[in-house]
Amino acid sequence: KQRTFAMLKPDVVEKMGHIMKVIIQNGFKITKLKMVQMKRDHALEFYAEHKGKPFLPFLVEYMTSGPVIAMELLADNGVAKWRELLGPTDSEQARKDAPGSIRALFGKDKSLNAAHGSDSCASAERELNIFFPMSPIA
Ligand code: ATP
Repeated sequence: KQRTFAMLKPDVVEKMGHIMKVIIQNGFKITKLKMVQMKRDHALEFYAEHKGKPFLPFLVEYMTSGPVIAMELLADNGVAKWRELLGPTDSEQARKDAPGSIRALFGKDKSLNAAHGSDSCASAERELNIFFPMSPIA
């Protein structure tokens, strides 16, 4: 089994029950979960790879507009499997190419796209460490 990092973006947190049901029905185990309000610095650290991109300021604004749901998911080939269930970055394209995907079902467009998924095992470890650092119960 392989772990990955998943995040429900602020505008779909109210649909978390429905989305978690889809995640579980697709064979994932939700092994960690927390609801957190990111600060600007957290969002900039999380999206460090997008430094300099024109959409970064909007993305940071969006991701800090309310709490997010951070999760560790476990499944066979979990990283690729979660990216597959997410669908393409652009939700409108997802509705054409991957109609049953999370972004097709719950996203709006190419920026308000419902959820995040790590793109590699290395990213998953980095992102899980940001949200679930080794620490006592808290
Ligand atoms: P994520 O990393 O969130 O799983 P992704 O890997 O499909 O998504 P990235 O290219 O890493 O997409 O972009 C990160 C996020 O930035 C996207 O999920 C989306 O919210 C936003 N984004 C990406 N491209 C654009 C764009 N062209 N215009 C506006 N927002 C964008």
